[in-house]
Amino acid sequence: MVAPSTKGSSSNDPTQYIHLPISLLPSSFPKQAFQDVIAAAPVFNELVDRLSRDKEYLNNALGEVSKSDEFTGRLLKMYNEVYPSGVLASAQPVALGLHRSDYMIDDSTAGAAAADAAAGAKKRLLQVELNTIASSFGCLASVTADLHRYLLERFFLPSLALQPPSSSPNELQAFLSSYLHNHGLLVPPSFSPSAAAAAAISNLPPNPTLTQLPSALAAAHTYYNNPEALIVFIVQPGERNLFDQRFLELALWEKYQKQVVRLSLEEVITRCMLKKDALFLDGKHEVAVVYFRAGYTPVDYPSEKAWEARMMIERSAAVKCPTLGYQLAGTKKVQQLLCEPQALGRFLNREQCVVAQKHFTGLYGLGQEEIKEEEGVSAAAVRAAIANPQAYVLKPQREGGGNNFYDEELKRALETWSPEKLSGHVLMQRIQAPARNAYLVREGKVVMGPAVSELGIFSTFLGDTSVSGGKGGVQVNEYAGFNVRTKLATVNEGGVATGFAVLDSPMLVDE
Ligand code: ADP
Ligand code: MG
Repeated sequence: MVAPSTKGSSSNDPTQYIHLPISLLPSSFPKQAFQDVIAAAPVFNELVDRLSRDKEYLNNALGEVSKSDEFTGRLLKMYNEVYPSGVLASAQPVALGLHRSDYMIDDSTAGAAAADAAAGAKKRLLQVELNTIASSFGCLASVTADLHRYLLERFFLPSLALQPPSSSPNELQAFLSSYLHNHGLLVPPSFSPSAAAAAAISNLPPNPTLTQLPSALAAAHTYYNNPEALIVFIVQPGERNLFDQRFLELALWEKYQKQVVRLSLEEVITRCMLKKDALFLDGKHEVAVVYFRAGYTPVDYPSEKAWEARMMIERSAAVKCPTLGYQLAGTKKVQQLLCEPQALGRFLNREQCVVAQKHFTGLYGLGQEEIKEEEGVSAAAVRAAIANPQAYVLKPQREGGGNNFYDEELKRALETWSPEKLSGHVLMQRIQAPARNAYLVREGKVVMGPAVSELGIFSTFLGDTSVSGGKGGVQVNEYAGFNVRTKLATVNEGGVATGFAVLDSPMLVDE
């Protein structure tokens, strides 16, 4: 479980490795809420697919944002150019989605916890965002979950228990019981360390990412129906988080005998071409699937060549993960609009709306029309956020972490930015997640402290919701595993690759 070191002669020197930043033990999540977000996974898949094909909706939703946010504007313009008569009429109407919906535990009613518990109320998971492009840390999360199971079994279970020489069984017992207690897994004081460990282990859910994610990519390849064709991974030049991607590549080869080639967008333009609609590498290898692990940030388009490459891929008959429509469906602006009352009804049936809406929290548009209305919800949210900035997050249309505004910065932005600049952002209620003890290990050093965790639920989709059944319809729509990222409670942002968080795994508790 490794990642390239940030130290050494060059950050991309393949001989410089460090271990992946991890937590030492799993972090707790409420059992019922975990099941709920798994059940919501296929619903969010369907939502993304339907929305991605709704040209009118996307143009209305992103029209104003596109004026202040050049990147989103460019993606929308390309979407309109590639699909003048809709997605169904294009070279490849079927799309592949490897999504990750991120959640945090809502602890805002902590003060009323006793009353809630008495009423049997369970804790909820609220959606932070829905990632529709380059959703990462699926494979490494599976390895992290295995590591946690291994550590609990090896150091605490009786038959194999390997105790550090410096600690007595009593110390171990106290350490583990206190950790589990802090995480809401109440083990009786009479429990030995092994019984406590067994209780923890029995609440570790299996993580199927290593089978589910490659299986969806392979299904897309099979759908394309040329056994000789390649799968292309679009990656950032000098990608540092490549090990997460290599697991997919290996599984595709070992289990499905599918060949993967990794290319940056700029390499695509020099090495790929279209023959009619088919995408070819080096003039001779047909490409069945293009999987983007880059392309979500302006930095991934350093030149016009990179944009041309994106256009060539989008026009091709290759199955894309994601399509431009999927990427646009994952913008913060669309997420905010979908939280408005009745908005989901355009895409989902009533039952599905309930399943999805249960995870929404306050999100407010900052468009010029939206905040003009003094009595409107957006203007009220802006006033509340200026008065209490700690309760909100200000987000631009960006992916990849490190882009949001918090606290004083958020207040200043709301007070001083031009209406046009503000309109490219959304204002979100801050989720008050519970802080629990964690041991975070980064570059071999342990930091202990109260920490908050974010649960990512992966889901896979292959198909076209506008076609009912059959070959062109929905082929795959499944839950595909999880990841957990944990950061110290004092840190605002998340993200493992960005250095804020470590990888973790869930331990399910009755809360
Ligand atoms: P990005 O697309 O850059 O990943 P996110 O919306 O996921 O943007 O925000 C980045 C991080 O900021 C999240 O991983 C989370 O730690 C924190 N964050 C975002 N929204 C909220 C929120 N509403 N409440 C609490 N923390 C949040
Ligand atoms: Mg995120």
